[in-house]
Formats: sequence, structure tokens, C-alpha cells
Amino acid sequence: MSVVIVWLRNDLRLQDNPALYHAAQGGAALLPVYLHSTDDMVWPLGGASRWWLHHSLKALDDSLRERGTRLHLYQGPVAQTLHELIDASGAQAVYANRRYEPELEAMDQAILQGLQEKGIPLYLYQSNLLNPPEALLNQQGHPYKVFTPYYKASLARGLDSQCLPAPDRIVATQGPSPGVELESLGLLPKQGWDAGFYEHWQPGEEGAHARLETFIDEGLKSYPDQRDLPAIDGTSRLSPHLHFGEISPRCIVARLSKLRHPAREAFIRQLVWRDFSHAVLHHFPQTSERAFNSKFDRFPWNKRHTKQLTAWQQGQTGIPIIDAGMRELWHTGTMHNRVRMLVGSFLTKNLLLHWQHGARWFWDTLVDADLAQNSMNWQWVAGCGVDAAPYFRIFNPVTQGEKFDTRGDYVRRWVPELAKLDNKWLHKPWEADRETLANAGIRLGRDYPVAIVDLKRSRQEALDAFKRIK
Ligand SMILES: Cc1cc2nc3c(=O)[nH]c(=O)nc-3n(C[C@H](O)[C@H](O)[C@H](O)COP(=O)(O)OP(=O)(O)OC[C@H]3O[C@@H](n4cnc5c(N)ncnc54)[C@H](O)[C@@H]3O)c2cc1C
Repeated sequence: MSVVIVWLRNDLRLQDNPALYHAAQGGAALLPVYLHSTDDMVWPLGGASRWWLHHSLKALDDSLRERGTRLHLYQGPVAQTLHELIDASGAQAVYANRRYEPELEAMDQAILQGLQEKGIPLYLYQSNLLNPPEALLNQQGHPYKVFTPYYKASLARGLDSQCLPAPDRIVATQGPSPGVELESLGLLPKQGWDAGFYEHWQPGEEGAHARLETFIDEGLKSYPDQRDLPAIDGTSRLSPHLHFGEISPRCIVARLSKLRHPAREAFIRQLVWRDFSHAVLHHFPQTSERAFNSKFDRFPWNKRHTKQLTAWQQGQTGIPIIDAGMRELWHTGTMHNRVRMLVGSFLTKNLLLHWQHGARWFWDTLVDADLAQNSMNWQWVAGCGVDAAPYFRIFNPVTQGEKFDTRGDYVRRWVPELAKLDNKWLHKPWEADRETLANAGIRLGRDYPVAIVDLKRSRQEALDAFKRIK
């Protein structure tokens, strides 16, 4: 019987996995493989992503075993490992789903050529976006740089909502070599900083679908009104599942289209933001490293950054909503979108630290770290990207906190040392008098940091710095 390889990457699912689906339809015996390599990545997986990947691979292996096969894991340089596997198994084709990051696409093209020389086809399918990144261009034939026209064009073209079923039958074959054990990949942290992750996440396809159904039942209706409130579980929390491809956006759209729910447009719009970020990175691949707006190459970023950067990373800036967000990130591997915008604005505009410091920290600590989404959003916050928040619009973390965390539940959850402080002062403890603070059990500088920066002055300094590059 002929053998084909199903090469799984950021598509760790059985449902709507065209590579798996088409390979199974051909009737050949399938060899599902995951090739782990750290060799040539500019952005090697961060710590939180490695944690997720471990559990996601485990979940996928369990699902494949229920269908009579398993996930074969190999470690080593990708192209070489793939060639060795083909030679040893006699595989006649490789099936995979397309990845969209420019660096990974280039790698796939090189592999495709190498396989062609061997007479082995590599079939690549689109399924991880609602529109592939090159599909939409404006009337002048240029890439979109602003989201709203991109969104309209995307709806006009139609969102891909084909949702293929998981194959009911997989003909299994033994791998030519046993491969490696999951544990030997060493993806889990050696020190137990991941303890909080287990309470918050269930990596894997089952967890992704459970999350979607809970969101449809409990969150979708109020999504447009509550998606900006960090104290509430008002968003889908599907981002890591989407990043690792445990659920396809096409199936999400197909599922939502069965509901006549007015809130579904607002949610699908966010999925199109995800597509947009991939289109931006596809057309402007330099934007994971450099500002889209080249004026920012001359921006006078603060180079003496170590102490302030550490305070920001550790949630010890003395600005409550910023510290709440950074601590939420450390404990759970995620942070609410509104607060991501606030901590990003604070880092780049109040501390004048380069957005790359923030992007790198997020890359290491977010379970949903995604090169396209992270780069575009950091540049949006810093004011130097496509469709960016203008540089002069600087979020005030006090008024933002009062607006979006009015009752202070979010700050109290993550900054318990301020829990007894009255709402009036919670987002600006430095304005409370000593007695008020003492009654809440706080002495600034002892129980909670003195703010590391004056918000008004640093805002003005940022505006002055911006004027110099205009
Ligand atoms: C500085 C900064 C960095 C970010 N880095 C990442 C990242 O590395 N990975 C990541 O997935 N998201 C990133 N985001 C976008 C956004 O914060 C997360 O996608 C969102 O918080 C995930 O929660 P959710 O799944 O509940 O979102 P929901 O509100 O339920 O949205 C549904 C889905 O839409 C997509 N989406 C939502 N908002 C955005 C957005 N602004 N841009 C692109 N796609 C979006 C996500 O895939 C998300 O899962 C970043 C935002 C900021 C401001």
C-alpha cells in the first residue's frame, strides 16, 4: 500500500484540516508527523508558546490514537528530516497546510523545490485564514494599509467558511523509526512558572471547541458592549487555539453563520483583523523588525532602559492598571486586549522604550504569541505601523482604568496590595493622602511602588520627541 506523509505544523487539529482530509481521501496509508526544529528561526518559540505546544501535541496524539494511528515526532533540521523520512518510509507525497509568515513561506518554497527534484509532490492547502494574505489588493493593485477598506474588500470577496469534517477513517502505517518522545523535546519550563496556566487553558482541539461553545452561549451576545472590560470574561479567548491551528477560523465563521445573532459581525470583524495582520506581514515582511513608518528609525528612544523595562515586565511600575496587566500576563500567559494597548502605550510613550522591547517580552510570555498579530499591534500602539494610532494619541492609564475598570475589580484581582483602597484612588494611589493610604494598609514605596514616571511630564516629553522626527 502506498504511504503519504501528513506534515502537521500550525494546524494541530483533525477537523477542517485539508492536508489530512485530502491525504485520507486518497486511500493511502498516512504517516502524520510533527518535525520539531529550532535551527533557523529568527523568532524561536517563546516560553509560553512552548508550554502550549507541548500540550497541544499531546492532545493531537491522543485524538489520532483514537483513530488508530499516532503523531510521529521527529527532531532536527526540517528539510533533512523530511527527506530522510521519505527515503525510509517510501512515501510518495507530502501533504501540509500553508503557513503565512514570510520566513516560513520561504522555507516551504525551498522544501517544495527540493522535493520536486526528487519527484515527490508537496501539496499545500489554505485553511488557517479567512482570505489568504495576497488575495486582497486595492484598486491600484497595492496592499491595503488601512483596516476598514480591507475589511470591506474582505466581505465583498467573501470569507472562506468551508469547514471540512475530520476524516472518519485513517489507514495507519508504522513510522520508519520510532522518532522521539514528546518529553524529550524539553518544551515545558524547568522552573514552575507555568502553574497558573493550567487553571486557565485547555490546549488542543477539544479545548478550542469547548471554548467556542462557551463563548457562543455566554459571551457572544454582550461581546460588542463588554469586549473592552478587562475584569469580565467577555471575549472568546480563542487566540492561542487559533494560533496553533486547533480550530480553524473557517469553521468558526461556518458555526456563527448558523446563528442569527447581531453580535456575530463584531466578532467576525476581529477575525478579519487577524487576517489583516497576516496580509500586512506578507506584504511588508520587514515590519516584524522595523517600523513601517521609516521616520521612526530616527526616533530618540530611551536607550538607558534596564530598570524601567524590568519594572514594566514585573508589574512594578506603580501605575495600577499597567501592573495588573503585566501580572495577568505572567500568571496566565494572556492579557486582555484593552490592557495590551495600555501597557504598550505606557512602554513606548511614557517610558519612551522601543516597541521591540515590548514585542519581545510578549513573544516570550503570551500563549497566543503570533508574529503577524504581535508585530502589527505593537506598531499600532507605538504609532509607527500601518493604520496606526497616531503617535500623539497617548493613552492615559488613569482615565482608561477609571473608564474600563470602573469598579476596580481587575486591578484588585491582580494587584491585591491595593485591594482595600477606595475606588476614587485605586487608579491613582499617589493622589490619595497619607491617612487614606494608611487606612487601606498601604505606604507607597513599601507596600506598592511609587510611580516610576510622572504621567503628565512623560507625555509631554513623548510629544516633543515626536515633533523632532515629524
Ligand atoms: C500590543 C499588542 C500585542 C498583541 N499581540 C498578539 C499576539 O501576539 N497574538 C494574538 O493572537 N493577538 C495579539 N494581540 C491582539 C489581541 O489582543 C488578541 O488577539 C486578543 O486579546 C485575544 O483574545 P481573544 O481571543 O479573547 O479575542 P477576541 O476578542 O475574542 O477576538 C477573536 C479573535 O480575533 C483576533 N483578534 C482580536 N483582536 C485582534 C487584533 N487587535 N489584531 C489581530 N487579531 C485580533 C484573535 O485571533 C482573537 O482570538 C495583540 C494586541 C496588542 C495591543
